[in-house]
Formats: sequence, C-alpha cells, structure tokens
Amino acid sequence: MNPDQTRNTHERSCDAAIVGGGLIGLSIAFELRRRGADVVVIEAGIPGRGATHVAGGMLAPVGELDFGEPDLLELNLASAGLYPDFVAAVESASGMPVDYRKVGGLHVALDRDEAGGLKRVLDLQLRLGLDSRWLGPGASRELEPGLAPGLNGSVLAAGDGLVDPRALTSALLEALEKAGATVRTGIAITAIQTESGRASGVELADGSSIAAKTVIAAVGAESGRAPWLAETDRPPVRPVKGQVAELRGDSAEPACGRILASERVYIAPRSDGRMIVGATVEELGFDTTVTAGGIHELLREAYRLLPDVAEMEFIGATAGLRPGTPDNLPVIGPASMPGLLIATGHYRNGILLAPVTARAVADMVESGAGPDDSADGPVAAATPARFRGGESRPDSDNGSDGLSERAEKR
Ligand SMILES: Cc1cc2nc3c(=O)[nH]c(=O)nc-3n(C[C@H](O)[C@H](O)[C@H](O)COP(=O)(O)OP(=O)(O)OC[C@H]3O[C@@H](n4cnc5c(N)ncnc54)[C@H](O)[C@@H]3O)c2cc1C
Repeated sequence: MNPDQTRNTHERSCDAAIVGGGLIGLSIAFELRRRGADVVVIEAGIPGRGATHVAGGMLAPVGELDFGEPDLLELNLASAGLYPDFVAAVESASGMPVDYRKVGGLHVALDRDEAGGLKRVLDLQLRLGLDSRWLGPGASRELEPGLAPGLNGSVLAAGDGLVDPRALTSALLEALEKAGATVRTGIAITAIQTESGRASGVELADGSSIAAKTVIAAVGAESGRAPWLAETDRPPVRPVKGQVAELRGDSAEPACGRILASERVYIAPRSDGRMIVGATVEELGFDTTVTAGGIHELLREAYRLLPDVAEMEFIGATAGLRPGTPDNLPVIGPASMPGLLIATGHYRNGILLAPVTARAVADMVESGAGPDDSADGPVAAATPARFRGGESRPDSDNGSDGLSERAEKR
C-alpha cells in the first residue's frame, strides 16, 4: 500500500479519531481495532516518518536506566513484558516481520573513567533487582569479538531487546488496512470539535470533519505547540533533536549481535545487516538539520567501540525530534476536556512504550475515562493531570542549553 495515499476522503463518524500516525498513534489504533472499535487515524504527513522513523529501536529498560526515574523504569518494564504478545499480534495480523529480537545489550566502558560511571549504574540496577552483570574485557570480547581490544569492561543487560521501528510501522499500517481501519494521510487536524463541552470530533485542514466519540491526541513533539489543544490540555512537551547514522555491514557475518553502547554512542544492529548508530541529544527547538559535526562525532565514537564500523557502507543520516517532558515520563490519559485523551511525551522510550500506551489508552476509551480518572498500574504516573495548573511549562521552541551536538547513548 502507498502510505501517501488518502484512504478515505469522506466525512464520517467513528468510535475513536486518533490524531498522529507515529508508532504511538498506530499502536493505539491497532489495539482499539482489535477490540472491535471503528477507528480513524489522521496523519499530517506520512505515517511513521516522525521520531519513529529515526529511532534505534532499542527496547532497553535495564540498559537505559537512569538515576531518579523509578516510575519510568516501572512503565518501561511493563511495556517490555507486553512486547512479545504485541509483536506476535501485529505480525500475525499483517503477515509482516518486524525484526523483534531479545538479543540483550552490552554497555561498554572504554577506559577507567567510563568504568566508574558504568559501575555506579550497575549498582543501581542490582539494587533494583534488575538482570545485569559486569563482564571483564575478555568476557566482553568473547561475547562480541568485534569490540575494540583496549576496553575496560562492560555491563550485560541480557533481557533488553530490539525491534525495527520502520518495519513495525509498516506492519501496523498493513494490519490496520486489513482490518478495515481508516488511515488518512497528508492532512493535519486544525481543531477539535465540541458538543456541550465534550470532544465530539476533529476538523481537518481541507475543511472536512470527522465525528468521533473519543479523540486521541498522539502527535509526538508537536503536542507542546498544537494550537488545536486548549492551553490547559497542551502538555509541556519539547522537541529534543537526535541525529543517527545508518550503516550496512554483512548480514551473514554481522559485526555485532546485540546492542552495543558506550558512554557516548550506541549501535543497534538489524537482521538485514544494517547498523543504526545513534544518537545526538540536542535542545534546538524544531530543527531537524543533519550536521557534519553531529554525524562525525557519532561515527568517531562508534569506531572507538566497534572498529569494523570503518568498513561498512554509509547508507545515510537522519534526524528526528523526541517528544521530551520535564520529568521524562510520557503523558498518557484523559485531558481536562471530556472525550479527549492524550498520548505523547514518550521522549527516548516511545518505541519501547508503544504496547503499554496502546493498552492503557484502549482501556480508557472502553471505560469512558473522564478528566478526573487516571489509568491503573504504572501508567497512572503518566497522567496529564500532573501538569494542569500551569506548572513546569517549558518554552517548546527554545534555544540551546549548551548540549548541542553532544553524542550520548540515547
Ligand atoms: C534519534 C532518536 C533515537 C531514538 N531511539 C529510541 C530507541 O532506541 N528506543 C525507543 O524506545 N525510543 C527511541 N526514540 C524515541 C521514539 O522514537 C519516540 O518516543 C516515538 O517515536 C514517539 O512516537 P510518536 O508516535 O509519539 O511520535 P512521532 O513518531 O513523531 O509521530 C507523531 C506524528 O504526528 C503527526 N502530526 C503532528 N501534528 C499533527 C496534526 N496536527 N494532525 C495530524 N498529524 C499530526 C506527525 O506528522 C507525526 O507523524 C528515539 C528517538 C530519536 C529521535
């Protein structure tokens, strides 16, 4: 199917109108359709070409653990647990593979300073009962012989995994098409329609409208400046730019078999021989320029980690905008306007968090959750209500905080 194609130009009504065709919006649509709901996805551009297109696809609740984020860890672990069933359902509904593999991640210290930092994270992982362990240089290179010889040691997060976000997007679109869902592409929504103060549908840029019992806003980094969301419901989401490079090695003899990460870069291998090298973390507003400096730094750091990188084909480089929030937790749940749900702010974990978000939002649609309700379980911490009242609203179009073009393993 051609993703540019507008599948249905008629005005219509549906159970749920999902605004945004990134992985979050498509996963929600898939889950709702599976439960029998009539869904329409409205995507301003091409589905999956936002942050989703650029992501490394790491499903790494353990390897990417940071200090002071217990709620996020719980949410990440919950979603990692849902991944096998989620992938099985998408693959079976679409007939398309998504390259999901629980290969584990190896977080490498290239020198003694880096080893100190890594061991502090390992302490935290072990205190939290997570599955990770220290490997010396020999054991590290036994697992991944391509690693740079001078390394100091590594932490193995054996339960972490990978998926190909682009393949997952294509499979979700195929599954939605087969299930008779409507995906409208190349058209933005411009307003939310209301009836007696409740969201009752969406207005599109061509003047047409779609009536919906529930509207779900899943527009990623755009959500912090979406003019069609009332100020109280506009989440404090800011764009955090990430550049990645895409390389191709030999799929028969891959240079690495699992996620490799150092302090400043990660390498995410795909089954077809591609390697995603990521990612910069840049606070530059809505800029998605790929820069020579950013890609140079990524490739230099990747080469320090896995020297075979130098022999690989350079396929290209791209940049995307992570939807960041002040507390790094996503924003999932009912808006203050009845009938409107928000699902955004997934920052650097949106690929990992797709299944838990889809399930929670579908539950809320089914239960008719209102402004005073929040989800059960770990998704409760992600409630939009935590930002109501105007606190912590960063300027979503702000300039640099001095971190620009710094390569980090996120
Ligand atoms: C460099 C980089 C690396 C990453 N690596 C990982 C990783 O390894 N693992 C992980 O879990 N996460 C990773 N992430 C994060 C992940 O990519 C995001 O959190 C996730 O893709 C967010 O999905 P989304 O659907 O919310 O947003 P998007 O994919 O950006 O989709 C939002 C969509 O909404 C559409 N839209 C906007 N406004 C409108 C409107 N008015 N009307 C209709 N449509 C609209 C946009 O066109 C877009 O397609 C990474 C991100 C980046 C940038």
